[in-house]
Amino acid sequence: MIIDVLEREELPFPHSLQEFQRLFPDEAACAKYLERARWRDGFVCPHCASADEPRYVSTRLKVLRCRHCRRDTSLTAGTVMERTHTPLSVWFWGAYLVASQTPGMSAVQFRRQLGLPCYETAFQILHKLRVGMVRPDQDRIGGKPEIIVEADETWIGGHTRGKGRGVHDMVLVACAVEVRQRKRTGSLNKRKTGRYAGRVRLAVVPDRSTKSLVGFIESAVVPGTSVITDDWSGYSKLGERGFCHTAVAERGDMEVADTFLPIIHLVFSNLKTWLRGTHHGVSPQHLQAYLNEFTFRFNRRFYPFNAFRSLLGIAGDVSAPTYAQFYAKKS
Ligand SMILES: [Zn+2]
Repeated sequence: MIIDVLEREELPFPHSLQEFQRLFPDEAACAKYLERARWRDGFVCPHCASADEPRYVSTRLKVLRCRHCRRDTSLTAGTVMERTHTPLSVWFWGAYLVASQTPGMSAVQFRRQLGLPCYETAFQILHKLRVGMVRPDQDRIGGKPEIIVEADETWIGGHTRGKGRGVHDMVLVACAVEVRQRKRTGSLNKRKTGRYAGRVRLAVVPDRSTKSLVGFIESAVVPGTSVITDDWSGYSKLGERGFCHTAVAERGDMEVADTFLPIIHLVFSNLKTWLRGTHHGVSPQHLQAYLNEFTFRFNRRFYPFNAFRSLLGIAGDVSAPTYAQFYAKKS
């Protein structure tokens, strides 16, 4: 069973289409949800700092008016919905679809699902919601004695028409993933190890050198964490850099790989299937953004509520860079 541990009683998250429609039947319900999400302990006027029930203007649902200084505060300021004319309910429905069920949805499908008259609007909404996914997750993984991290690298792409055999347009991707252990279930079946993936980090790296691979792990994993890799020399300095490193002699033997690095190979397989199925020919310069989108979904797959709020920009993290800033920094 999937339990959303961060779900709050006063801010329920819909687990089905029926629940969604019951929770968000109209613009007023969405506005109320937005208010409670942004001011957990009740509205505080950002102009005069008085904490008092605001006045509501029935014709302007996205605005709260202070009873003391009478100035207005926009409910959508600093969120992905700021300065758009699209109804809140459309944004909520869009974020719900993107967060919970439809990876890699096209703007055409999205327009149909949202019942929008115009492709351009659907495209803009989808684009803005994706900004929340292409921002990299910043905090490092691991850091707890019971969590082991598997690290490995893989090639993505290739198969360029009209070119010779080789590694044309292949991009090297480094990965680290937490391996967590389910509580004992009493099963005697040895194939059911009870291990599952926790959080993941993925990055495009230039090569398989120590500088690239150990550098990636230092940026992605808390020092002191137990890290398991294959015996490639690029990882041999991990012990010196403060990790509890175990190297497994894999030598291309898939059975060994499945025994000692099972979770990371599942991640690679999921990633490649997703890239093949939904994004035909991701260009190398955009691959990191797609890796971040994959990471966003993967790390929140048990927490759709967090994904929903992150996408709408109401997770309390409104100072994060925008899509444009993210790409400006990359290029
Ligand atoms: Zn005020």
